[in-house]
Amino acid sequence: MNPQTVIADENNYILQTYVRPEIVFTHGRGLTLYDTAGQEYLDFNAGIAVAILGHSDPEWVTAVAEQAAKLTHTSNLYYTEPQATLARKLVENSFADRVYFGNTGTEANEAALKFARKYALEHGRGRAKIVSFTQAFHGRTMGALATTAKEKYRTPFAPLLPGVTFAEFNNLDSATEAIDDDTCAVIIEPIQGEGGIRPATAEFLRGLRQLCDQHGALLIFDEIQCGLGRTGYLWAHEAVGVTPDMMCIAKPLAGGLPIGAVLMTQAVADAIKPGEHGSTFAGGPLVCAAANVVFDRVNQPEFLAHVREMGEHLQSRLQEWLPQEQVVAIRGAGLMVGVELNRPVAEVVKGCIAQRVLIINAGETVLRLVPPLVVSAAEIDTAVGVLADAMNNE
Ligand code: PLP
Repeated sequence: MNPQTVIADENNYILQTYVRPEIVFTHGRGLTLYDTAGQEYLDFNAGIAVAILGHSDPEWVTAVAEQAAKLTHTSNLYYTEPQATLARKLVENSFADRVYFGNTGTEANEAALKFARKYALEHGRGRAKIVSFTQAFHGRTMGALATTAKEKYRTPFAPLLPGVTFAEFNNLDSATEAIDDDTCAVIIEPIQGEGGIRPATAEFLRGLRQLCDQHGALLIFDEIQCGLGRTGYLWAHEAVGVTPDMMCIAKPLAGGLPIGAVLMTQAVADAIKPGEHGSTFAGGPLVCAAANVVFDRVNQPEFLAHVREMGEHLQSRLQEWLPQEQVVAIRGAGLMVGVELNRPVAEVVKGCIAQRVLIINAGETVLRLVPPLVVSAAEIDTAVGVLADAMNNE
């Protein structure tokens, strides 16, 4: 199909919630995406931190094709093997005792907030307060949106879920003021993604754990963007040694198919009874077969070591090659790196796309580098070279 027809159809028929560059992709392989003219793009975005094995990974493709030919959907009214296997792997490799499957990150957070409310109720405390943080992004449904900080996302849809208080990210005094005996949950990204790639300090996360324990509140880690190998650890919180009561994951788990999950302790699970939450599609055999491949690959010491090594290479290239007078800060861990500039980054992003490197932003002034985790040193060099060029020429 002619790309102009695709773009016209999109403009004419799709609700305009996205602004897209005029490129129509047809297929991908590894870090390379191809457009309708057969031009190659280096994907340093991975579909917003999703395609961690790259595009069309052969093992993933085979697993999905084989599962699709066998069984795609049964609903959650019946047992299926890929779901049970995935749950066992997630539990055996985390702090958690139980898993709840959803279809997206937002849904996972939404479920975690409901579980926290129910846990409080079961423990004879009708408390409903939820504490979130400045710059947080937890999704766009009414509950998740209520814990998302950005006014532009919130204001048009008010009133949102009541009972949410915002404390200042990385400020323990502010958290101490906000978390009290009415608090049922504290939700935080160990590394904020959309909010500008901002890591929480170990001291801050340890302090939150203490405050939650002191007040009987549940600590929820949103590892939807930073979890599952992205930081060079299986879970981002491993680096700081602080364990949550619930953890939400999603984006990369099924390598590009929609999935979300809430991992939780048995104490939380004990509060939830059959029929209290659910989903038609969640945890279906197709997505779980895909996720089993992704999880097995990521959960290898060599894979995680590669992420750490490439993360270091990326950070040193950014320091060496970017015009440092434009750089305010380089932040992040592993292959989740933000470069804050002293000006808006929109034109730099456009300059990279013009040179066929896909890079995205995280807020107005931060470039977000979240490539597939299988990225090579040579691909990093290409991307950072193009980025430096775009910054110098803009
Ligand atoms: N939480 C975090 C930290 C995210 O980065 C995102 C998506 O960007 C979400 C939640 C929402 O996930 P989804 O878009 O899959 O609903």
